[in-house]
Amino acid sequence: MDKEKCIFCKIVNRESPSHIVYEDNEHIAFLDIAPFSIGHTLVCPKRHGETLWDMTEEEIGKLFMVASRISKAVVKAVGAQGFRLIQNNGEAANQVVAHVHIHVIPVRMEDRGKFLDRKKFTEEEMLKTADIIKQAITNSDSIVEEQRK
Ligand SMILES: [Zn+2]
Repeated sequence: MDKEKCIFCKIVNRESPSHIVYEDNEHIAFLDIAPFSIGHTLVCPKRHGETLWDMTEEEIGKLFMVASRISKAVVKAVGAQGFRLIQNNGEAANQVVAHVHIHVIPVRMEDRGKFLDRKKFTEEEMLKTADIIKQAITNSDSIVEEQRK
């Protein structure tokens, strides 16, 4: 896919609106516009690559580290009991946007064993969810800092 037309690159460059919950020099995370559950977040490297094979092993490692960290904040923020990390590569794997991303999908006990459908939430619900996830990430950062001392 053409990098100039990539929707996730546009989000990175603030040319497309999104509910960004986390950003560092190499990564960005934002709410999925058609979430499987409230809090469903996408974690991406900023550098455009279509699949994991376009990344170095170090970049892959860092990406999963960030996704793992974000999963804790997402689960806590929406009061879920578990989460799924899904990372699709290629059309055959149902990869919709050809820019590497990891889905962080919080799940509740009542959804156990269910096939989750894409949902649509109001702008207000999305804004509120992004806010509480951002808050949870900020708090978890300070926890990490505490543990390092
Ligand atoms: Zn891209």
